[in-house]
Amino acid sequence: MRTTRSEQLFEEAQKYIPGGVNSPVRAFKSVGGTPRFISKGIGSKMIDVDGNEYIDYIGSWGPHLFGHNPGFIIEALKTAIENGTSFGAPTEIEVKMAKLISELVPSIEIVRMVNSGTEATMSAIRAARGYTGKEKIIKFEGCYHGHGDFFLIKAGSGALTFGVPTSPGVTKGNAADTLVADFNDINSVKNLLHENKNQIAAIIIEPVVGNMGTVRATDSFIKELRALCSQEKIVLIFDEVMTGFRLAQGGAQEILGIKPDLSTFGKIIGGGLPVGAYGGKKEIMEIISPSGPVYQAGTLSGNPLAMNAGFAALTYIKNHPDVYIILEEKSAYLENGIRNNLKSVGKNYQLNRVGSMMTLFFTEEPVTDFNSAVKSNTKLFGKYFHGMLNRGVYLPPAQYEALFVSTAHTKEDLDKTINANLDALNSLK
Ligand SMILES: *Cc1c(COP(=O)(O)O)cnc(C)c1O
Repeated sequence: MRTTRSEQLFEEAQKYIPGGVNSPVRAFKSVGGTPRFISKGIGSKMIDVDGNEYIDYIGSWGPHLFGHNPGFIIEALKTAIENGTSFGAPTEIEVKMAKLISELVPSIEIVRMVNSGTEATMSAIRAARGYTGKEKIIKFEGCYHGHGDFFLIKAGSGALTFGVPTSPGVTKGNAADTLVADFNDINSVKNLLHENKNQIAAIIIEPVVGNMGTVRATDSFIKELRALCSQEKIVLIFDEVMTGFRLAQGGAQEILGIKPDLSTFGKIIGGGLPVGAYGGKKEIMEIISPSGPVYQAGTLSGNPLAMNAGFAALTYIKNHPDVYIILEEKSAYLENGIRNNLKSVGKNYQLNRVGSMMTLFFTEEPVTDFNSAVKSNTKLFGKYFHGMLNRGVYLPPAQYEALFVSTAHTKEDLDKTINANLDALNSLK
């Protein structure tokens, strides 16, 4: 595979951009090699600057539920762009968007649009603190909630991959207000609550984690967490930036059957443009300015291009509830193929899947939390990743990530992927 142009661009990029990229995991640091510079996306495929074609399972890290450039989003954008790119005044599409989100996700009564998932989670925590008058928060080891200071404590994803769970630049004060519990372990939460009686404003969680690889919260754990929060008057925040509109119309909270107090969204909600949102109970959300005293603002929030792209995506989801049946079928087909391959090479590597999110962990023990996830052999994953890339399959370039199946993946794509997987696994022997 020729990669000369990507190599040239990466060298130049490193002169002007930190590490040559605008978001760390793109740099291939944990798998080695040169990141591919992408010039075009079509449906399930990406084409790089050297003309190589890949079946794409990153989907821009989540947004592309329908693959690249679906016609209905492109059309919505074309219409929007002709009317103006930004006004800094309210628009009708913002009302339609908020109404549609609250229709699709029953726990959302009021919702505020922002520009990224990070902004959404930071703002949701501020709302919870303002509402409860308490300061500390609990998060779970391995869960990633964006790069806000008080989240970069034992965070997953890029932070996990790079081995800097607590980033320099985060103050001791910030770290002191963030308590860390173990995912799927209710006793670890109870202990923290006991030690910090009446001091916890919020508990934030990825109800289905993508950022330590795919790990689902158990039914009993999430049910007990909900009960504890109600009992202790703690705001329960589901970070659905990844899972929202991916796992179901109503996100992970729909499949788990649990209503959080607040939810955060991003990725799919922007239809491929930069968007985030946070919302939930009216009583809590009314604390936000200008209806309440908690300040949160954004020059480009509710941007017409982003709103129109996002509205087109969510409208499609609303009108085609079978999207999730299609995704489940495709993802189960891929899962089955990979399971058969694992059997035929005699390996019991753990394959976790929830809907169209999937991770092959290079460990033979079940992965249910952070500690079991980090037993994975990341060196082996790196080899596997390149084995797949060289066979034209673009996986997320780190072990602790979820791959995403889109409605654009064809049976041919999935069969090619399964074949590449068998060859790549065999070459690891
Ligand atoms: C991606 C992600 C974020 C951060 O969103 P950005 O748009 O990258 O700031 C937060 N939480 C979860 C669960 C995510 O997957």
